[in-house]
Amino acid sequence: MEFRDLKRQYKSLRVEMDAAMAEVMADTNFISGRQVRELEEELAEYVGVKHCISCANGTDALTLALLAWGIGENDAVFVPDFTFFSTAEVVSYAGAEPVFVDVDEDSYTIDCAKLERAIERTLAEGRLRPRAVIPVDLFGQPADYGKLLKLAGKYGLQVLEDGAQGFGGSRGGRKNCSFGDISTTSFFPAKPLGCYGDGGALFTEDAETAALLSSYRVHGKGASKYDNVRIGMNSRLDTLQAAVLQVKLRAFKEHELEEVNRRAEYYTAQLKGYVKTPVIGEGNVSSWAQYVIRLKDLQERDGLQSFLREAGIPTMVYYAAPLHRQKAFAHVRVQEGELGVSSRLTETVLALPIHPYLLEEEQQRVIEKIQEYLR
Ligand SMILES: *Cc1c(COP(=O)(O)O)cnc(C)c1O
Repeated sequence: MEFRDLKRQYKSLRVEMDAAMAEVMADTNFISGRQVRELEEELAEYVGVKHCISCANGTDALTLALLAWGIGENDAVFVPDFTFFSTAEVVSYAGAEPVFVDVDEDSYTIDCAKLERAIERTLAEGRLRPRAVIPVDLFGQPADYGKLLKLAGKYGLQVLEDGAQGFGGSRGGRKNCSFGDISTTSFFPAKPLGCYGDGGALFTEDAETAALLSSYRVHGKGASKYDNVRIGMNSRLDTLQAAVLQVKLRAFKEHELEEVNRRAEYYTAQLKGYVKTPVIGEGNVSSWAQYVIRLKDLQERDGLQSFLREAGIPTMVYYAAPLHRQKAFAHVRVQEGELGVSSRLTETVLALPIHPYLLEEEQQRVIEKIQEYLR
């Protein structure tokens, strides 16, 4: 059993996929080919925003957004303490300082009450200027944008939605990657919509921001790429990856998102009462980048993981350490007492195999083994 079976997906898409890739190779338009522009239009339409700018990966997407806003030295950017490293790495990379904020006990996305306290603390301290917040659509579920957008408005913060795991999810019918002033996603192979290598994209409603991002993406180009008006990056999405994504986006829309949700519902129905199952907020839809259960304590979590491993069932721990305890952030000052949920989660979470091609008998085996261990 695979944690995320990309081979099975390829087999199902093989004919279309091979043709799409062969076409790019025959055309040899490997950089900025027609498929890149087409994909950007398809993605913007799906998400429901005006502009999509593709780029080389989800981390670059976040960096490009901070570049476009001129965020750097002496700026504070608020990030959840429980997320993939990139979300905060890009802040330090831009020369600004990440302020780690705890996450909600149920949704595991940024805790808005604690966020407001962190903003107030930063203002009172006076060392850094609050500039932006990076909510993460963790495991596929949108952050609490009702509260978050109000807070951002109150304090004049830019919202950079990290939708690397959230593509396809929604809140009240509005799709993830549409909530930020700029939103980003990743097409890393294991994400809800993945390509065959690295890839990423940015989304924005604002035409001026879109133009800036397009410039930063290609060496700060002006009228042409040999007219350079600002210091930028080389962060394009390959034409081959765009062609792969066009095929995958069709399958994602036609059946994958629905099927992965069906599997998540089945896990939840069968595992309720044994473990804490994911809590999806009212009106939210998850794209199930991960299906994460919570155990009583570290011993039970590690015990279950070993038990499943011996039964040939792969699981993962996302995330084994809160960001504020990563060595790379040892220099960042934190309020340890304000980060209790995030720290506890790292000891108790376990991600189970889930993807649209998971077979019924595979899922049944995972469920039975978990029930057996906890009985
Ligand atoms: C995967 C991920 C990223 C980074 O995406 P890459 O394409 O791997 O650079 C950023 N943020 C979160 C929350 C992620 O899960």
